Amino acid sequence: MSELKAESKAQCPKCGGEILVGLKNFRCRRFIKSGDQSGCNFILWRNDLERLGKDELSDQEVAAMLRGEEIALELVSPKSFKIFACTGKLGEQDCKDGKIRWRIIFTYPDVKVLGAS
Ligand SMILES: [Zn+2]
Repeated sequence: MSELKAESKAQCPKCGGEILVGLKNFRCRRFIKSGDQSGCNFILWRNDLERLGKDELSDQEVAAMLRGEEIALELVSPKSFKIFACTGKLGEQDCKDGKIRWRIIFTYPDVKVLGAS
């Protein structure tokens, strides 16, 4: 059961291309590895938020973000180990290695720390 397959309308947020759903990632059909500017740079790994204590992203969560929606997240701060709520949406981010990657960008309008002492 996959919402992406059912809808088959999931479009690449970068170029509007078809999204391929893999076991480990979601990527644009035109995705080409770094260095080639002729392709598309959209790839999102299911374990993108693993470092923040979240399980792998579900098809439903990614489908919602591909529609431009924000999804509710409950994450664990790697510094304080506190659980916090926020929302996430897809966006491009400059990484330390100088490359631009698609990540889940957090927004904090309703941020609240859960379980804070
Ligand atoms: Zn694309």
